[in-house]
Amino acid sequence: MATGSSSNAGVPGSTGPAGRRLGELRASDFADHVGPESILILPVGAVEQHGPHLPFNTDLVIADACARSVMAAAGDELDLWLLEPLAYSKSNEHVATPGTVWLGPQTMLAVLDDIGRSVATTSARKLAFLNGHGGNSSLLNVACRELRLNHGLETFLLHPSLPPDQGGTADGGMDEGDLARGEMGMGIHAGFAETSIMLHLRPDLVAMDRAEANVPAHLAANDHVRFGGAVTFGWLASDFGPSGVIGDPTRANAETGARLFKNSVEHLIDALAEIARFRYSQP
Ligand SMILES: [Zn+2]
Repeated sequence: MATGSSSNAGVPGSTGPAGRRLGELRASDFADHVGPESILILPVGAVEQHGPHLPFNTDLVIADACARSVMAAAGDELDLWLLEPLAYSKSNEHVATPGTVWLGPQTMLAVLDDIGRSVATTSARKLAFLNGHGGNSSLLNVACRELRLNHGLETFLLHPSLPPDQGGTADGGMDEGDLARGEMGMGIHAGFAETSIMLHLRPDLVAMDRAEANVPAHLAANDHVRFGGAVTFGWLASDFGPSGVIGDPTRANAETGARLFKNSVEHLIDALAEIARFRYSQP
């Protein structure tokens, strides 16, 4: 329904590098383009402190850029439609820093439920969260099941890259080990990978002369209670010191950021192609 490029001619938002934005469709065109096989993508950002060297909107910039690049690269091959990004999310681990603007967990669940309720009024059945903020992951997993239960949607959670405390690697699984090794697997916020990606996407917003390492190295010695360990623990960014950084951004560079970003976009397109084929039960 939404994959025929010829039928999209002249419809705002359906073609071009920034195309397939649901918000640019007109109501009179909507049913011709968004159908049962469409996947609606909601980029989820954050406005929260990212240390002295990165901007508050880092997670929003990355999630939004990833989503736009996915749409541009996938073109009309996949039936994807991009929702406007959710800028504010559950950032209360950064509440100690003025400028952080956050939704509490109950508020965020309610917002996601309302978005799900809205999506469920369309014929689209698949809703994918593209999450740029690691602090949202647990809640988004809860929301995925709630939206499945409450609105019958098929729900999915994707990340530009998983942080090390959630099974990812500081270098996005690429061979950047020498540069990321100093983080000892503890680089989860404003560290090497995230700073490198921002140097690629928005170098104008990065102050590398203020970048400083803050690696909770003592956690790396723990067998269980550590980022990526079997025992998770509640934490606030301020628990690890005043800088707000958890990682080592000092060796971040734009070349690495470009590779990580390209890798993320390719990985996301692959994952979305599988989501398009996904069925709960045996065909
Ligand atoms: Zn971030």
